[in-house]
Amino acid sequence: MNRLWKHSLLLPLSHLVMPAAGFVTIPATMDRHARAEAPVALTVAAAGDNPFNCEDTISPMVKTVAPSKTIEVFALTQEMKARGERVVSLCVGEPDFQPPPAVIDATITAAKEGNTKYTGISGAMDLRKAICADLKRRKNLDYVPADILVGNGAKQAVYQAVLAVVRPGDEVIIPTPYWPSYPEIVRLAGGVPVFVDTKVEEDFLLTPETLRAGLTDRTRMLIFCNPCNPTGAVHSKERCEELAAVLSEEGGKGKGVWVMSDEIYERITYDTPHVAFASIPGMFERTMTVNGFSKSHAMTGYRLGYLAATPIIVKTAATIQGQITSCASSISQAAGIAALDVSDAEMQTSFDVMRQKRDFVLKRLAEMPGLITAVPEGAFYVFPDVSSHYGKTAPDGTVIGGATDLCLYLLRVHSVAVVTGEGFGYPKGIRLSYAASMEIITEALAELEKCLVSLK
Ligand code: PMP
Repeated sequence: MNRLWKHSLLLPLSHLVMPAAGFVTIPATMDRHARAEAPVALTVAAAGDNPFNCEDTISPMVKTVAPSKTIEVFALTQEMKARGERVVSLCVGEPDFQPPPAVIDATITAAKEGNTKYTGISGAMDLRKAICADLKRRKNLDYVPADILVGNGAKQAVYQAVLAVVRPGDEVIIPTPYWPSYPEIVRLAGGVPVFVDTKVEEDFLLTPETLRAGLTDRTRMLIFCNPCNPTGAVHSKERCEELAAVLSEEGGKGKGVWVMSDEIYERITYDTPHVAFASIPGMFERTMTVNGFSKSHAMTGYRLGYLAATPIIVKTAATIQGQITSCASSISQAAGIAALDVSDAEMQTSFDVMRQKRDFVLKRLAEMPGLITAVPEGAFYVFPDVSSHYGKTAPDGTVIGGATDLCLYLLRVHSVAVVTGEGFGYPKGIRLSYAASMEIITEALAELEKCLVSLK
């Protein structure tokens, strides 16, 4: 046993440098005698012969981050594939079409012509100007390049926006069902996720009453995903105005609350037009708009997204980004400029196909027993409530206790992979992605129907 790594260091509190709650660093100058007198115990490493392979080496802050709840279904999918079995998947979170040809051309040109160096941390000026022009034209938003930070995907933009303002102990309102990264990002910032429920019967829309009930004196931010992953819910202009009114109420608790509006799916909407939350009167200054190229232009692998916000936020987020990843890929940024140049008509052809798939999925789900399904007005997901099947027994004796049980059974017996609602903080539902070929969708839904019919 390695004694050096086994013992605890005792430090007086006054000798500790505490850059943020939850972190403790030991000053390099502290000698071992000072350490010996100290009253605070810091365990350097726990039991085990290898100090580099034990639980205590992992930062407690990171331990608050939950691993993905979809892991069991994913693991079984991998196992089945390794055995050579075919799995039909409706799990994908990315479009099944290719980026527009102009994007591919711009990618090749950028690489060939030496556009392969670092750009400024905030992103190439041409791209930031193009983003401003796009937000003006389609969303009537008046951003200037200093309000834009281009990063490695919308996910980085969300993370940096949260880190910029959330202090340890701050509450962040997250409507359920939610995109699984939100609560974990909030926890990494030391914040406290406060979940407020939306309901399938209300089309998974956040109501003003629910928002008001979630606000406290400690609320720092509302995370608003519109259109929503996993439900496809799109909040109309009127609903956004109602939510904005709650945040502006005289004497209310919403007055100082930031809104992180994740609009990554905004181009993929059906009958309810999308409005940018920042365009609602009174909301521009306090809204951090997150968007990107992954979903709209099928550019997930390019890792390109952005934050649009008031300059103090963008500057802070850029400082963080400068110490984490520097700029986004110069080649991806060149492709992003080309993407914003693609005509609306060309973009629409892919979205029209999505609508046909959505309509087909809704029709088929309506034919199956025991489902409650809200009509998704955007994105490429549908999130039926399957809870009426919980407690039933499958032909092989498996008892379906909840969403994960159903997903595992569906995969094991019917070879169809879908995502458990437990991963989205909503155990009554499952998420089906229709960003797949019609052949896959048809086959997967036929199996889902067989599965549900067989449960007694
Ligand atoms: N927000 C939501 C709601 C998402 O679904 C995703 C991707 N699954 C992201 C952000 C991250 O997108 P990006 O690929 O741009 O990082």
